[in-house]
Amino acid sequence: MIIPDQNIISYFKRHQALFGDQLILGERHREETTAGRIVEPSPPGALQAFNDDIKSCRKCALGASRRNFVFGAGNPDADLVFVGEAPGEREDQLGEPFVGRAGILLDKILAAIDLTRQDVYILNVLKCRPPNNRDPVPEEVKQCEPYLKQQLRIIKPKLIVALGRVAAKTLLRLNESLKNMRKNSYIYEGIELRVTYHPAALLRNSNFKAPAWEDFQAIRDRYRELTGTQPGSAHPAAGEAKAS
Ligand code: SF4
Repeated sequence: MIIPDQNIISYFKRHQALFGDQLILGERHREETTAGRIVEPSPPGALQAFNDDIKSCRKCALGASRRNFVFGAGNPDADLVFVGEAPGEREDQLGEPFVGRAGILLDKILAAIDLTRQDVYILNVLKCRPPNNRDPVPEEVKQCEPYLKQQLRIIKPKLIVALGRVAAKTLLRLNESLKNMRKNSYIYEGIELRVTYHPAALLRNSNFKAPAWEDFQAIRDRYRELTGTQPGSAHPAAGEAKAS
């Protein structure tokens, strides 16, 4: 028997009290996106309500060692979502994803493809920092990944980019090298997913910068293709209905 996650049940109850019949479930979203029909945006405040419901989570041991829960940040109606593996030390200190040097580099890369943090959403598979920035362990992923999936059901992006091998292999359950994974396009929760280097890896090894730039140009082109955005034009406004 499958026992539903209590935090998610609590979220849906609260959400239903706020928004009544406008509650949109993930299965319906996936059917609509794959069928190519219009996807209605989630009700305003849905992502914040979910944050409020799960921010005190203690489902795994990381809940006891974290300084701050790191939910994610950006445009709650973004068409492009970046996913890292877990908060690092600065993120744990500040409660924000991708801050510090890697975050500054990510901002520069976004600017180079005509985007800002306000155009995209940035989050991690785990919401709490693993000690000494070790890789997530399977039990932590098992407990925390449902939160990521629910975030994606609310945001409804058209494209996901996994930043780094650990995030990619965690989401895709693949034991491939990043070099192999970045050549392919995958589907995660019914959404197209691409893989590229984590900005921290680019800071450690400048040899990764050229292939990463190739990846980000391809991500930019695919994002424009999926959203109908023209170079130099305004990005799709938050709250507009999304056509898949
Ligand atoms: S890592 Fe995820 S599952 Fe574990 S305590 Fe934090 S929010 Fe909860």
